[in-house]
Amino acid sequence: MKLPIYLDYNATTPVDKRVLEKMLPYFSENFGNASSRSHLYGWTAQDAVENARLQVADLINTNPKEIIFTSGATEANNLAIKGLFEINYPEKKHIITVETEHKAVLDVCEHLARLGANITYLKPDETGLISVEQIEKSIQTDTFLISVMYANNEIGTIQPIKEIGEIARKNNIFFHTDATQAVGKIEIDVQDENINLLSLSGHKLYAPKGVGALYVNKKLTGKLIAQMDGGKHERGFRSGTLNVTGIVGLGEACSIAKENQVADYQKVKNLRDKLEVGILQNISDVKINGNLENRLPNLTNISFGGVDGETLLDGFRDIAVSSGSACTSASVEPSYVLKSIGLSNELAYASIRFSLGKYTTEGEIDFTIQYVKNIVDSLRK
Ligand code: PMP
Repeated sequence: MKLPIYLDYNATTPVDKRVLEKMLPYFSENFGNASSRSHLYGWTAQDAVENARLQVADLINTNPKEIIFTSGATEANNLAIKGLFEINYPEKKHIITVETEHKAVLDVCEHLARLGANITYLKPDETGLISVEQIEKSIQTDTFLISVMYANNEIGTIQPIKEIGEIARKNNIFFHTDATQAVGKIEIDVQDENINLLSLSGHKLYAPKGVGALYVNKKLTGKLIAQMDGGKHERGFRSGTLNVTGIVGLGEACSIAKENQVADYQKVKNLRDKLEVGILQNISDVKINGNLENRLPNLTNISFGGVDGETLLDGFRDIAVSSGSACTSASVEPSYVLKSIGLSNELAYASIRFSLGKYTTEGEIDFTIQYVKNIVDSLRK
């Protein structure tokens, strides 16, 4: 067994070999610029990009014309939220979001608050869920956007997306969801779920880092201001020479996910459940964080009572996991997500996120259960 065992798939995933294979010719053979309109090099690159656009659109059940390629989900979130703010402000300036969003939404909102936006940060319940009633109560006459993540990156809680979409639709408010952690893991249908804007990222679904997409519903044409100006690529929504290799990889990863996500869901969920049961049966004073009914299949976030958080993570030499969020790991603050759902600083520090993926094996899970038991036992002595 290869050590350390990788159980940090929500931080990033390895590139699927099939994805890599598809990408390779576009580095040095079919290296054209997808915007070159006058020769075969350009046409080949453009065809590849348009094929990828179809593959991405297919995974979330929409039209390829509604997919804008970006450098990742951070950029997609910035474009969605800032782009809508710019066109609505000052007539409408209110945004509804949630305390437990990723920083790529929260920091954008903070930025806009400094420019005059008015932001409501909803507080989730102790499982990380927000209710449709909370959203309804927060709507104001000048609300132009509801931004609620599909599934939380730290605790896996899946929000009632379809119901939120319905409320947004009824009230004539745009609905954006950061679906970075959900795409490729669970089935998403932007039409059925009334989603107007959706952010996704390649490196969370076995495509490379540095590529992602924003789904922009066609009714937003002319209502979203580009945040990257230049050569008017991506129908003017996002300028910059297209990352053809990355886009080809993202497309292929979406196509693989579309074919396998139902089977992968069950496989990874079984392993996650085995890990949870193993830990619960063998270690006392543990608590699972998140919503047990509505949760990503590949993730478990567990608090270990009576141990010092920092020493706990130090013990995980042979297992790659994360505590809090890798994206904010420069800070030593306890996870704001865990604090928001009511954990004490002490317990938040002593929490570990195990996130599994399609390459996780049963043997790795058996090893992990025993390994974690040994660490916790020795710390509690
Ligand atoms: N949103 C969520 C929920 C995430 O988990 C991440 C990645 N940690 C991002 C946004 C940022 O994505 P990217 O790395 O593609 O910028």
